[in-house]
Amino acid sequence: MTYQDILNAADLYDADLTGGTLAVHTPIDAARIAQLKTHTADDVSTMIATGVEAFRAWRLVPAPRRGELVRLLAEELRAEKENLGRLVTLECGKILQEGLGEVQEMIDICDFAVGLSRQLYGLTIASERPGHFMRETWHPMGVCGVITAFNFPVAPWCWNAALALVCGDPVIWKPSEKTPLCALATLKIFEKTLAKFGDAPNGLLQVVVGERDAGEALAASRDVAIISATGSTRMGNAVGVKVAERFGRCILELGGNNAMIVAPSADLEMALRAIVFSAVGTAGQRCTSLRRLIVHEEIYAQLIPRLVSAYEGLPLGDPLADGVLVGPLIDAPAFERMQGALEQVRADGGTVHGGARALADRYPEASYANPAIAEMPAQTDIVRQETFAPILYVMKYREWAEAMALHNGVPQGLSSCIFSTDLREAEDFLSAVGSDCGLANVNIGPSGAEIGGAFGGEKDTGGGRESGSDAWKGYMRRQTNTINYSRELPLAQGIKFDI
Ligand code: NAD
Repeated sequence: MTYQDILNAADLYDADLTGGTLAVHTPIDAARIAQLKTHTADDVSTMIATGVEAFRAWRLVPAPRRGELVRLLAEELRAEKENLGRLVTLECGKILQEGLGEVQEMIDICDFAVGLSRQLYGLTIASERPGHFMRETWHPMGVCGVITAFNFPVAPWCWNAALALVCGDPVIWKPSEKTPLCALATLKIFEKTLAKFGDAPNGLLQVVVGERDAGEALAASRDVAIISATGSTRMGNAVGVKVAERFGRCILELGGNNAMIVAPSADLEMALRAIVFSAVGTAGQRCTSLRRLIVHEEIYAQLIPRLVSAYEGLPLGDPLADGVLVGPLIDAPAFERMQGALEQVRADGGTVHGGARALADRYPEASYANPAIAEMPAQTDIVRQETFAPILYVMKYREWAEAMALHNGVPQGLSSCIFSTDLREAEDFLSAVGSDCGLANVNIGPSGAEIGGAFGGEKDTGGGRESGSDAWKGYMRRQTNTINYSRELPLAQGIKFDI
C-alpha cells in the first residue's frame, strides 16, 4: 500500500490534507504526508462555545443512552481497526502490531464505558438525625479538553472520551501537532457513529488542529471544566498551573522513568523477554517504556550479555513491514536527544552497547537508531531524567534496600515491576514501603497495561488516573445531598439554635 492508499483508507483525502501551514511528516522516511490548516484562537473560542451548548443538551440524555453512542463507536472502530491502525503506524512510526493494539485499546475502553453507563453509582449514607438520610450523586461536569501526545495518537484520547461521553461531557481534542491525522480520521469515524446514533447534539467531539498555543487556550478557558493532558512533565507543569489558577479540574498523565528489579530468584527467560519488549517496544517511546534495569549482582553476568546479544538481533526497519520489531524515532530532534544522553552516559563512566544511527542509507531523512543498553556505575542525573528514546540504563544491587532506594530515587512515578519468585520480596515491592509508582507489577514488564485498571502515576508523572477502575469519577462532579423527610429541623452535631 502507498502512503496515499493508507490515508485514503482512513477516509482522509486531499481536501482534508492540504491547504495549510502545519506540515505532517511520517517518521518512516520523513516524507511530508499533509500540510494542514490550523485553527486560530477565535476558532478555539467558537469550539468551546459549541462544546458548552452541547453539554447543556448531553447532560440531560440518560447515561445508558449516552452509552449507546459509545457502543456504536466501538462497532465502527472494530470495522476500521485495520485502517486506523495502519494510519497510526504511518503517522507515529510504531510497528503495525502496536498500531493495531492501540485501536484495540480504544475498542476495549469503549466496551468498558458502555457497561459503566449503567453503573455510575452513588451512595446512600446514614444520617445522624432522625427522619433524614443522605446520599451522594454524580453529575456531568462540563466540556472536557483532551490534550494528547504523539506516541499514543489515539488510545489515550479514547480512554478519556469514552468515559467523558458516558459521563455526560462533550470533548474537545487537541492532538499532538506531530500526529493530527489520526485525530482527523478518528473524528470521521465518530461522525459515522453519530449518524447511526441519531439525536446527539452538535459538537460532542471537536478536534483542534494546532500547536502548543491551542492547548494553552483550552487550559486557560473557564468554560472547559476538565483538562486531561497527556505529555511531558514540562507540558504538565504549564497546564497544571493554568488550570489550577481558575480552579478547573486537571487529569495529568506525564513522563515516566520506569524500572524493573531483577531479583536472584527471577525466572530469567521470562525476564529477558519482558525486558526486550518493554524497553524497545515503540522504539522506547512509550510513557511506560522500561528505562532502568536494577539487577542483583549474583545474576548480572548471566543476564546482561544475553540481553546485549538479544538487542543485536532485533529486526529494525519500516514499521509497516512484517517481522520488524523496532521502527523509527519520531524525528531528528528525538535522535539528537538520544545521542546527547549517550554522550552523557560515557562522561559519567558508563558503557554503551548499541545506540548508533541505523538505516541512514535507505532513509537519509528519517531517524532510526539501534536501541542502546547503558551499563551505569551509579544512578546519575541522566538516568534520573526521561529521555524519550530506546536507552536502557542498567545498574547492579546487592541488598534489597539498595534496590528499592535506586528504584524510587527518580522524580517520576509511573510504572514499575519486579521479577522475582520470592513471595516476600514481591509483596514487599507492592507494599506501602515498596514501589512509589501508580503501576506496580510482578513478573511482567512495566508497559502494555490493560484498560480495566486505573492508569497513571505519582510525583512528576502528575497524579492523574484514566481508563478503568473508578477513573470515571474524574469526569463527573460529586454532590452530597441531605434530605429531611421529618417535621422537625434538628441541626447536625446537636447544635441548639432556637428562634
Ligand atoms: P509534549 O509534552 O511535547 O506534547 C504533548 C501535547 O501537549 C501536545 O499536544 C502539545 O501540543 C501539547 N502542549 C505542549 N505544551 C503545552 C502547553 N504549555 N499547554 C498546553 N498544551 C501543550 O509531549 P510529546 O513529546 O508529544 O509526548 C511524549 C511525552 O508524553 C513523554 O514525556 C511521555 O512520557 C509522555 N506520555 C505520557 C503518558 C502517560 O499516560 N503518562 C502517555 C503518553 C505519553
